[in-house]
Amino acid sequence: MSGRRIAGPEIEKLIQLLARVPGLGPRSARRAALQMIKKKDQLMGPLAEALALVHERVVVCSTCGNADTSDPCAICSDPRRQTGTIIVVEEVADLWALERAAAMPNVLYHVLGGVLSPLDGIGPDDLSIAALVDRVEAGGVSEIILAVNATVEGQTTAHYITDRLSGFEVTVTRLAHGVPVGGELDYLDDGTLAAALKSRTKF
Ligand SMILES: [Zn+2]
Repeated sequence: MSGRRIAGPEIEKLIQLLARVPGLGPRSARRAALQMIKKKDQLMGPLAEALALVHERVVVCSTCGNADTSDPCAICSDPRRQTGTIIVVEEVADLWALERAAAMPNVLYHVLGGVLSPLDGIGPDDLSIAALVDRVEAGGVSEIILAVNATVEGQTTAHYITDRLSGFEVTVTRLAHGVPVGGELDYLDDGTLAAALKSRTKF
């Protein structure tokens, strides 16, 4: 089943690479490549430049684990974010999602780089947990908000971190589990409904 080649190797390679971008399949990749070819100067040129620049400059923040073009990152070096609150997340994507929501605009973050998963051989030393303890130990932190996923691994990780921080004068909190905004009870799964009931608040 060798499909007929419809473009030169350079364009085929571009399509193959684009198809590896999350959210793009082969079909969308072809469409994106075509659009870029059509808008060579307005889109492809600037995109190639932006890619090259980010590729050259992107670094992992040595304080929080965020991805940025400076270390410390823009968030860690923002003087307005001195509230003593650190939100702990699994991945950089979670940090960016929380920043987009902007519910707590002046907090700092800590990216774990995953969750504890004995079955996959991921232990505490594989995650950025010691660095989090170091940040708390350095002082000035009053609250740690554990914003890990509501999965078994996420909750195991939250318990582990809570244990590791038990000797420090810091409040450890976690996200509420429950009814999503705009959610209808009838459509919720049993686990979500049970968690929402358990973590009910006073009206
Ligand atoms: Zn940072």
